Amino acid sequence: MIIHLKNEVNSSEAAQIASEIKAFHIVYNNRNVLITGSGVKEVPVTIESKVDEFWVFPNDMQLSSKKYQSEKREVKIGKITIGGTTNNTVLIGGPCSVESEEQIRSSAELLVSMGLSTLRGGCYKPRTSPYSFQGLELEGLKLLAKMREEYGLNVITEVRDATQIDQIIEYSDVIQVGAKAMYDQGILRACAKTKKPVLIKRGFGSTLQEFVQAAEFVLSGGNENVILCERGLRTFETGTRFTLDLCGVAWLQEYTNLPIILDPSHAMGYAYGVPSLARACVAMGVDGLLIEAHPNPKVAKSDASQQLDHTEFAALLGTLRPVAASVGYKMI
Ligand code: PEP
Ligand code: MN
Repeated sequence: MIIHLKNEVNSSEAAQIASEIKAFHIVYNNRNVLITGSGVKEVPVTIESKVDEFWVFPNDMQLSSKKYQSEKREVKIGKITIGGTTNNTVLIGGPCSVESEEQIRSSAELLVSMGLSTLRGGCYKPRTSPYSFQGLELEGLKLLAKMREEYGLNVITEVRDATQIDQIIEYSDVIQVGAKAMYDQGILRACAKTKKPVLIKRGFGSTLQEFVQAAEFVLSGGNENVILCERGLRTFETGTRFTLDLCGVAWLQEYTNLPIILDPSHAMGYAYGVPSLARACVAMGVDGLLIEAHPNPKVAKSDASQQLDHTEFAALLGTLRPVAASVGYKMI
């Protein structure tokens, strides 16, 4: 249940009530809001006089649900905004991993030359094998921050462990929670304590309900800036790396109020399929795309097969613009 307390209830009283009824307390749109588990169907009698409005939910999709807030949430990423009524589709580009200054500078220059705003690059890579390249860690974060500084780009990078959150916040504009980390409550709770936008990738074996519950961890902890990212599920198919769940995207658009970014690169796993899949994604009217691009994909230290080269990436944007326009969106 979500409860909006009356305006005359101040924050410290709200916190007191929250602890009495074992609810979360957040201040949202200048209002004291309490969130209980979905099992609660009636307002506790002890607080009835303090309640302005309340919503009952059949499950723990609460703050993220359209039933609570029908308008899509707006999220600011540095100097750009997605969601709300913006109808912006942000094209986020860059390599899977930050590998060297020369490499990430080349990516930054590509984005700037295309008028794009947001650079991706992993520094703490959640690799399946301990023997694969694990990322440049702090050195990589510093390189991203340097690109942010020199080129005025926003940067997004992933967190592998809750202890890295402070570092990630210092050097980046968006915290990416990877597919394998979607269930990591240490990470989700740490993300909830900041105001930085958090992009949560759907676990490749997660239901939509579980995906949204991960978002609820961040929202109910007080951070409203949550973005969902569909990046493909593991199915019986082995010809492609994963299977992008566009049905799931339609479901999220219907039932949640969160901006949605799609990642055709990880879903497909092979560069040849990324441009057409990207166009299919944009045709759904989404808030962004995450596309991996590398100055020389053949020598990439992670996800080499799926990264576009810079010529392919530059060509892609031109083909996305009319698709976005056909559904009332604008590529930024
Ligand atoms: C990535 O974005 O490079 C990545 C590791 O993604 P995912 O968590 O979706 O596998
Ligand atoms: Mn990758």
